[in-house]
Amino acid sequence: MEPAAVCNNRSNGDDIIRWFEDVSENAGSVQTQTLWRILELNWGVEYLKKWLGDIKIHEVDACALESLYTSLVPLVSHADLEPYIQRIANGDSASTLTQQPMTTLSLSSGTTEGRQKYVPFTRHSAQTTLQIFRLAAAYRSRVYPTREGGKILEFIYSSRQFKTRGGLTAGTATTHYYASQEFKIKQETTKTFTCSPQEVISSGDNKQATYCHLLLGLFFSDQVEFITSTFAYSIVQSFIAFEELWRDLCIDIREGTLSKRINLPKVRKAVLDIISPNPKLASKIEAACKELEDLDWFGLVPRLWPNAKYVYSIMTGSMQPYLKKLRRYAADVSLVSAEYGSTESWIGVNVDPCLPPEDVTFAVVPTFSYFEFIPLYRHQKDCNLAVDDFIEDKPVPLSQVKVGQEYEIVLTTFTGLYRYRLGDVVEVAGFHKGTPKLNFICRRKLILTVNIDKNTEKDLQIVVERGSQLLSKSRAELIDFTSHADVVNQPGHYIIYWEIKGDVEERVLGDCCREMDASFVDHGYVVSRKSNSIGPLELRIVEKGTFKKILEYFIGNGSALSQFKTPRCTSNKVLLNILNRCTIKRVYSTAYA
Ligand code: AMP
Repeated sequence: MEPAAVCNNRSNGDDIIRWFEDVSENAGSVQTQTLWRILELNWGVEYLKKWLGDIKIHEVDACALESLYTSLVPLVSHADLEPYIQRIANGDSASTLTQQPMTTLSLSSGTTEGRQKYVPFTRHSAQTTLQIFRLAAAYRSRVYPTREGGKILEFIYSSRQFKTRGGLTAGTATTHYYASQEFKIKQETTKTFTCSPQEVISSGDNKQATYCHLLLGLFFSDQVEFITSTFAYSIVQSFIAFEELWRDLCIDIREGTLSKRINLPKVRKAVLDIISPNPKLASKIEAACKELEDLDWFGLVPRLWPNAKYVYSIMTGSMQPYLKKLRRYAADVSLVSAEYGSTESWIGVNVDPCLPPEDVTFAVVPTFSYFEFIPLYRHQKDCNLAVDDFIEDKPVPLSQVKVGQEYEIVLTTFTGLYRYRLGDVVEVAGFHKGTPKLNFICRRKLILTVNIDKNTEKDLQIVVERGSQLLSKSRAELIDFTSHADVVNQPGHYIIYWEIKGDVEERVLGDCCREMDASFVDHGYVVSRKSNSIGPLELRIVEKGTFKKILEYFIGNGSALSQFKTPRCTSNKVLLNILNRCTIKRVYSTAYA
């Protein structure tokens, strides 16, 4: 079934849900058809010819084509496709990966692997973005109906768009989307409109944009139906900024002015065209903020945006550590976890928006791409020689996945990626009709390892969660964290970097450090710690603002704030330099002493 068929202005929420239930019911055969459509669209391109030769696609039925395709085309990583994508970026107009000439390339955020990658982007990418947003909005509105004509406070940011050597437009996928027709269509079809004008979203200056988002969000506070961003990090950062900015924001609301800190003429004009003096609102906000300050900003959302029905953003995976802070701000306003996707392709939709973010799963949309799943198994307890993080089995199609099993996702997309390993680890949590519901586990290659130990991002997250619980003894809180496996000094050991708010005694930090060290359950780690072939875990406290510097480093290198994810484990020299320069305290674990 054509996605475009359900993606027009007239169709309402029920239509799109009905369509999704239908394709989910028949997910297996829809996947076979989806692969056929992708291959038909791009038949004859250099890459496919290389592996499939001159097979006549119209003489092969869809099922036979699926098995031919998966047996002849190899699994690849981005590095394998990079020479093809680079040729496209350089202006080679031959049909290398897609039949339609490529005019745009996306940059993946690069915050998890430390390097931004070019990924093909076509009109299809923007259309599926619109489609998943509409589908998700339809499910949300069943649980949290919003008022037509209301506003959305969106903390969204475009990054710089630029031309590649071959003249293609390049930028992050979110940047392309905010500039696309589909972004406007989404607002019109869902009948809710973002508070900020395009000039703010694409200002290119995140600090100025955040100030304006907050100002306009407050100016329209009674009309705001929900608060959102791509990743939860941006909402938390914006509210942290609000704690410092609220007095200036109130002056601007009272007088209808705009702080001098906004110095981009286009942004100034666009914002000043919208706002007007509102002393009554300013006094109300001022009074609320004075009370909120005493409550350490608990309940900021319902107090300032009384009609907000929910806060909506990606809150799973590497965003989970920000939930605690977000919950404080949101108080009794629901947190709704947003969809699962990547620059390469959208993957799944949250069909149970009322579930707490920790329990959210994503129902795969079987028309978006052709999905395969590589079964992954954790190492056996005594398997010390394994060099990789998991043991793999042969990839299986969507129709053959099993509940409880972990997989790495492989994509074949309409945009010219063929059997492309995404690098995400997911677990099948159940089924929505016939399509799997995925639990996001972690990025596969992000692991802490010194020798035979292997700890994933998820393992680290659990350990940090346990250690940081002890901070509450000191009424302090964890702002952000990352880690590094030091293998230069012997014995190698893990270093966990924390930025914390509030004063904490050294004794408590020692407890936190020991708790984290003792909470790693990976057999390789435990054995190595006991034999001292891995040294005591080190907790380094970094000064306030360190993680902001890390963000600024990524933004300076072309990442978009909208897609930023703090790397949870890093060997990046620049990052380590920032972290080590900003370290103000070091504590070593006494576990296993
Ligand atoms: P990007 O490289 O900026 O395109 O980011 C895509 C990556 O972000 C995915 O491959 C995932 O690792 C992560 N991601 C996206 N959506 C979610 C989600 N809902 N939950 C957890 N992680 C996500």
